[in-house]
Amino acid sequence: MISKPKLPGRKKSAKATPPPPPGTAQAAPSSAPPAPAVGQEVMVDLQRRRDQLIARVAELQWDLGGLAYEMAVRNQMKVDLLVKRAVALQDADAELAEVERIVRTEETGSAGACSRCGAPHSSGATYCWQCGQSLLEQVSSDAILRR
Ligand SMILES: [Zn+2]
Repeated sequence: MISKPKLPGRKKSAKATPPPPPGTAQAAPSSAPPAPAVGQEVMVDLQRRRDQLIARVAELQWDLGGLAYEMAVRNQMKVDLLVKRAVALQDADAELAEVERIVRTEETGSAGACSRCGAPHSSGATYCWQCGQSLLEQVSSDAILRR
């Protein structure tokens, strides 16, 4: 009758299965997803983060352009150096794109941040786009620990 979500790779779980509820027919369903209590806070953080990232991307682009120009006028292109700067720019740009996407779809209010690296993620995300942390397991073990 009750279909519980499968928890991948959890061999040892202290209380994986909750005891059956006592005969209260009108009890609220305990299988409901946890309410997003931090929606507003996350939103403000995300907007702040977005502003930081916009500034950082602009700065990195400016730096990269200036560096390339300096190398060009000296006729000494150090590609390694340019690539290193470009990677930093790419990272910031990717995070900015993700943050902007989340801010746009924040109406659902269930987005969060990765507990390992702090990168923001959208509500439907299964894995952290930045460090690869499984966000599903993160949620599941957290929910179990609360029992
Ligand atoms: Zn992460």
